[in-house]
Amino acid sequence: MQDVVEKVYEQVVARNRGEAEFHQAVREVLESLDPVIAKHPHYADNALLERIVEPERQIIFRVPWVDDAGTVHVNRGFRIEFNSALGPYKGGLRFHPSVNAGIIKFLGFEQIFKNALTNQGIGGGKGGADFDPHGRSEGEIMRFCQSFMTELARHIGPATDVPAGDIGVGGREIGYLFGQYKRLRNAYDAGVLTGKGLAWGGSLARTEATGYGTVLFAASMLATKGETLEGKKVAVSGAGNVAIYAIEKAQQLGAVPITFSDSSGYVVDEAGVDLDLLKQVKEVERGRVKDYVERRPGARLVTKGRPWDVPVDVALPCATQNELDGDNAATLLRGGCAVVAEGANMPSTPEAVEAFQSAGILYAPGKASNAGGVATSALEMEQNAGRTRWDFATADAKLTAIMADIHDSCVAAAEEYGRPGDYVLGANAAGFTRVADVMIAHGIV
Ligand code: GLU
Repeated sequence: MQDVVEKVYEQVVARNRGEAEFHQAVREVLESLDPVIAKHPHYADNALLERIVEPERQIIFRVPWVDDAGTVHVNRGFRIEFNSALGPYKGGLRFHPSVNAGIIKFLGFEQIFKNALTNQGIGGGKGGADFDPHGRSEGEIMRFCQSFMTELARHIGPATDVPAGDIGVGGREIGYLFGQYKRLRNAYDAGVLTGKGLAWGGSLARTEATGYGTVLFAASMLATKGETLEGKKVAVSGAGNVAIYAIEKAQQLGAVPITFSDSSGYVVDEAGVDLDLLKQVKEVERGRVKDYVERRPGARLVTKGRPWDVPVDVALPCATQNELDGDNAATLLRGGCAVVAEGANMPSTPEAVEAFQSAGILYAPGKASNAGGVATSALEMEQNAGRTRWDFATADAKLTAIMADIHDSCVAAAEEYGRPGDYVLGANAAGFTRVADVMIAHGIV
């Protein structure tokens, strides 16, 4: 890294001690900025880089709640309002025991550039809690969401900060959060949260958007080589919303997804995933991946290793950060994998990214390839503001156009800064310059 950029990174490490994921996300963006700053040195003026790595506001709060047995629990809630240059803070809420300040900061930082890539006037933020929803009853989930929103409500609003879902937060949780917000504020502010139910301000295609967008991005990358997804074997990790709809879109485009996973292991279904069964198990029954294997002859559950051990043409990591390391990348490459598109946020470790890039395969970082989720959240905000509802085809067509535009912006920026085909540089440079130009226009704030 150039000196000026290296100094900013060192300051981030010194100021945010122990927050390894945040350091990792910052480093990846800053490294990409070398050619950008070399060509346009003014981006390093007026401490712009120092400002962009410092959240505008960090809210950390107590979330007390009572379980079904009457025991009181205390969780920690977060909302990091990272950057509002382009619009209200926008980004999901994650409920998972691993959540801490460093995780939320890394997610919030990524969100700034991802949201800029969508070109929809949304700033970057992220939040969540170290709450584990696993095994909790409906009542417990509802009371937790109500307690969480009791504090969060004072910080958010349709023009200020618009949270949505992420790991552990889906339509059910958004419902409880919205109900409590409405009650506290005495206001039906539909635009304060996205990922809402269709009957109360949600958008068609929001559920599908992240997974669909990831596969559309993979297809666009392949198209630059004159290829398609038709007949390609695909490894998917995760079994949540992103994974399920990545599998659906991959199948629609003629590919054959053969894996998915959860914390108990991964499933290999060589005949191709039975999507109806997977949806039944995960969406209807809220079950585990082993429930799929029990009902699907020929499918097997592997409890050691990762889906990346299976030889495939395309890998779609759709679970969580750092789930694909350097060894996994080497295994994928040996198995012939030539396309990786990230549905999760930062699922590949720096060693894995390095391996993909030096092998010269098509590799899309999550902030570009998984931006379809937040892009469709912005479409939901647009519908809420206009008190209107689009049909599925309208929302889906807009999502498809936005993903194509993100792909082309990455390609153009990679070319402009001298590294054609480098989607990491392309995404970071295109996202950064959009935010930086507006920060400069707004003065030192
Ligand atoms: N959590 C999602 C993401 O990582 C979606 C955020 C949103 O819809 O605001 O981008």
